[in-house]
Amino acid sequence: GPRLALVLGDQLSFDLACLAALDPAQDAVLLAEVMEEASHVAHHPQKIALIFSAMRHFAEALRELGWCVHYVRLDDPGNSGSIAAELRRWATQLQSVEVHVTECGDWRLEQSLRDSGLPLVWHADVRFLCGRGEFADWARGKKQLRMEYFYREMRRKGGWLLNGDGSPVGGAWSFDAENRKALPKRLKAPMVAHFARDPITCEVLELVALRFGHHYGSLERFDYPVTHAEAEALWLHFLDFALPAFGDYQDAMAAGEPFLFHARISAALNIGLLDLRRLCADVESAYWSGRVPLNAAEGFIRQLIGWREYVRGIYWLHMPGYAQRNAFGNTRPLPEFYWTGQTRMKCMSQAIGQTLEHAYAHHIQRLMVTGNFALLAGIAPQQVCDWYLAVYMDAFDWVELPNTLGMVMHADGGYLGSKPYCASGQYIKRMSDYCGSCAYKVTESTGEQACPFNALYWHFLMRHREQLGGNQRLGMVYKNLERMPEAKQQALWQRGEQLLAQLDAGEVL
Ligand code: SF4
Repeated sequence: GPRLALVLGDQLSFDLACLAALDPAQDAVLLAEVMEEASHVAHHPQKIALIFSAMRHFAEALRELGWCVHYVRLDDPGNSGSIAAELRRWATQLQSVEVHVTECGDWRLEQSLRDSGLPLVWHADVRFLCGRGEFADWARGKKQLRMEYFYREMRRKGGWLLNGDGSPVGGAWSFDAENRKALPKRLKAPMVAHFARDPITCEVLELVALRFGHHYGSLERFDYPVTHAEAEALWLHFLDFALPAFGDYQDAMAAGEPFLFHARISAALNIGLLDLRRLCADVESAYWSGRVPLNAAEGFIRQLIGWREYVRGIYWLHMPGYAQRNAFGNTRPLPEFYWTGQTRMKCMSQAIGQTLEHAYAHHIQRLMVTGNFALLAGIAPQQVCDWYLAVYMDAFDWVELPNTLGMVMHADGGYLGSKPYCASGQYIKRMSDYCGSCAYKVTESTGEQACPFNALYWHFLMRHREQLGGNQRLGMVYKNLERMPEAKQQALWQRGEQLLAQLDAGEVL
């Protein structure tokens, strides 16, 4: 029989390693929509729709290239419900002499394939810049990993934004300090690129509404790119209209502005519709031709080849143990309002509301609003991780887990990030216009009207003094705490206790 290549829902790239190894004239490809992958967490219906629609489009494109494609729809009578079982079923049916697979994005799925007993030929996922082994080599012997240094290696490896002598353009590797501006009042976000639904997408949306309509999140506003050509159009739209201001305002937030200057390409990139090296090259040439400032170009490339590759490296270095880390011993369940957006905290209702509507929020909303609240409130990290994995269009385990467990929840004890990203309402006030229309007062820390972030921030610092008090990057903060009058400290503690008790009683804040 023919050799068989498995293509997963986040591997929709023409140059995928297991496709490159086979011959379209003789071999076959398998794509399968399975219940296990669609429901092991309650994925946002738009995310399931994106993946199924993109898979169906990719299968068509492969057929046009001459491949013999076997495509299993979710509702096909023979569908066994899992990737490993489908692969076995088809390999047997086709009497495949070899089954080729590419490294997965999810440890759980990869394990299930490795445990399947099938004689698989594995291929590295070369769509990433840094291989798993290469990252392990870099990490070996280091007590703490620093993204900063890893990023420099990747810049050198790809040769992006370097001078002739190998030094970084602009005289520094990172211009992050210039990328934290608040949004000026009159500045408008660029128009959003929408993508119309074709018959394939409409059919998928119907299927998803029927089978996953009970998952949190609405299908109504689905407008994501589902083909390589559409993803390309979204990317060009970003280069022209948003990248020039992306650097300056990447940390800013505004009510009613779900996207601002963000590219919204992460989902397309993570499922394989865009090519990492090509994106970096485009951003670099936009800089060289004077269309975008250096802090925008460098900041964007840093996200792609620095942070994104770094968290993937950490994931594969430390799974499966990493998923169980809980350095603060948090056990509080995730509040119900994470699934509904029903809270009087404006920042939270905005971040969660747009998440339900678009399966999207940008990094500062995820890190400093919903994430910050979960950290301060001591929510069980595994529940927080499952929430992020479920609700975001671009969330796959390799990228979601280190970002949430490590960066947001500091649950790895500071391995990935040297300090917890805890902040009071002051940070949110500085970076957004949310507080002006909030039921709470950001200027108050105690009392019924006080912004919950304020007292919870101090409560977090007080209750973890033993673990965090020695952290140099929190030195100033703890000094401020010590200088506070005893009565003030007690009032903050009391208000924090009261808020946590309200959460435990299932009350809406
Ligand atoms: Fe969020 Fe507090 Fe500002 Fe309200 S006052 S929007 S809860 S930071």
